Amino acid sequence: MLIQWGFKALLLLSKIIDMISQRRGLMFAINHAATALIINKFFKDVPIIWILLSTQFMELLWVLFNYIGIERTSTEKDMKYVGDIHLSYMPYSHSLLTMASMSILSWFIISKGFGEPAIGLAVCIGILSHLVLDLITHSRDIAIAPFIKERKLGLGLYANFPVSAFILEIGYGIACWWIYGGSIALLAVILLFNLANLPMFVASIPGAKQKMANRPLLITSFIFVQIIVTLTLVGLLS
Ligand SMILES: [Zn+2]
Repeated sequence: MLIQWGFKALLLLSKIIDMISQRRGLMFAINHAATALIINKFFKDVPIIWILLSTQFMELLWVLFNYIGIERTSTEKDMKYVGDIHLSYMPYSHSLLTMASMSILSWFIISKGFGEPAIGLAVCIGILSHLVLDLITHSRDIAIAPFIKERKLGLGLYANFPVSAFILEIGYGIACWWIYGGSIALLAVILLFNLANLPMFVASIPGAKQKMANRPLLITSFIFVQIIVTLTLVGLLS
């Protein structure tokens, strides 16, 4: 009996590891939001809402561009797991040049235009943080600049070291909370939303995933909701 359960647990574990290794795209929304906690620690006078929005600025732009058709996401015909989602075309929201320019531009506008240097710098760092985290986790889907198709960037942490990447990502979320000195409720939210991504890897909810196949905008909406919920929760509990 015990051996049987042990075997089943091992099987499930290997399945989860296999699914994690298929992960290529978006970093967990919760950990981008958690990054705002560290930035806020150094910019105590800046309202955290500015920082939260800046850490997810690239993703929010990605959502908008998907809705209006400038960028595209596609899925395999028969979608089984998260690896079947392809962030096939996102040269504007996720390119090195546009995001570096956006962060500098936002700093310039907020600091010089509105006379708020601290907010300007915090927002600039927030936008850059998203770029850096995505460069580490994504698998070669970040363009250097729009219209440069040849070379794409991304260390592909998940593709190369799936288990370490998953542990590292949860560890990163916890580190953000710890550095900030947040509440237990905040820690619970960070842990919960990290773990909530696990079912995305496991092909155990056939209904939900089948519905998403060939309906990329549904995926976009799903991610959009996740961004808003995580930003709101981190903001409220910080
Ligand atoms: Zn991103």
